[in-house]
Parts: sequence; structure tokens; C-alpha cells
Amino acid sequence: MHEVAPAVFHIPLMPRNSINCYLIDDVLVDAGIKGSGKKILKALKGHKVSKHALTHAHADHQGASKQICTALDIPLLTSEIERDNAESGYATRNYPKRDSLIARFQQKFWAGPGHKVDQTLKEGDKIGSFEVVDTPGHAPGHISFFRPQDGVLIAGDALVNMNLMTTLVGLGLPPAAFTTDQQQNIQSIKKLHALKPNIICFGHGPVLRDMGKFDHFVRKLT
Ligand SMILES: [Zn+2]
Repeated sequence: MHEVAPAVFHIPLMPRNSINCYLIDDVLVDAGIKGSGKKILKALKGHKVSKHALTHAHADHQGASKQICTALDIPLLTSEIERDNAESGYATRNYPKRDSLIARFQQKFWAGPGHKVDQTLKEGDKIGSFEVVDTPGHAPGHISFFRPQDGVLIAGDALVNMNLMTTLVGLGLPPAAFTTDQQQNIQSIKKLHALKPNIICFGHGPVLRDMGKFDHFVRKLT
């Protein structure tokens, strides 16, 4: 794991940064797929971890949540809207086509078991040195984490920095097949852009420091 900003560590879980989680202060944000637990626990060794928060309860973010919370004896935090899916483990419930082949594959092989949510997060809540930003659209209760003092943004899947089919690096909208309301998500991306971040950390793809690329991407959104 690699420190991308003070007290912000990037934990890549799959080759080419295709699935990531982050340690921000003492909070683990997201937890990969259900097979990611060992890797995450190894990366966290020697670090103080007091909480685990989810940007949203999709299968490639909540996969190892139960394992991590149980192993470290830490609480799980989600938005109120994501709570049900995090607790039930029904991670693909809000996909546009929840019975599609890809949704069923993810639910079966990626999604982890549900786990009790101990605390819910809402816009403006402080989590370590970060603040919660409501960014619905990709998932109905999707949230991001922003640190105003240096502009570090944990964007979750509001946008991605990798084409998930080709693994080519570059900014894009999250795939439509896994996004509940893309128009609402675009509004959330514009909201994040208005915060003027300096560094963006994604659920999928490498960390971005070139904000010219972000400006360009947002300008093209309609
Ligand atoms: Zn997602």
C-alpha cells in the first residue's frame, strides 16, 4: 500500500488498480470483493484502523466488509440508503437489470455476506479529517469523502479512471449496467467538481493528480 497524501493510503486489490480500497486516517473505505479480505488485512497490518466505511454497498466494495469488521472488531458505516444492502449482502439489488448474467455473476462470486451497519453517514458528517459528500446516482445512497484542507477526494464509483472492459486508464462514467441513475450520477460528478479537488482516488483505476483531465471530462458531460 502506498501513501498518496498525508494519512491517505491506496490499497490496490487487483492488477492495474482495477479494484481499490483506501485507508483514510483510521478508516478503511471500501473492501473489494469477497476474496479480498486477506490482502486488505495484510496491508492494514501495523496501522490503526478504527472504522470501516463504504462509499456504496456494491459487490466490489462490500465483498470483504464482514470479514474485515469481524477480524478487526470495528464498526461498519454506510449511508442510510445503502444500509439495507450492506446488511443483507444483496449487493446488486439496485442494478438496472438485477437478474442479468453479469449481475448474477457478481452477486454469486464477488458479493460478501451482509454485516450489521453500526452507524449511518450523511452529507457533512466528519470522518477522520474528511467530510461526507452525498453523491447519489451510481448507487442510490452513494457517498464520497472529501478533505477540504488539501483537496483529497475519495470518489468511490461516481466516476472511474479505467475502462473496466479494456482496463485502459482514463476518466469515464461508471458502467451503465451497474448504475442506478446515470443522470443523477452526472449531477453528483458536477457537485464533486465544484469542490475543486486536487487528488482523486477511485474505486476503479489509478489515483489522478492531473485536475486538467478532470476539468476536461466534466466539461464534456451533458
Ligand atoms: Zn459500484
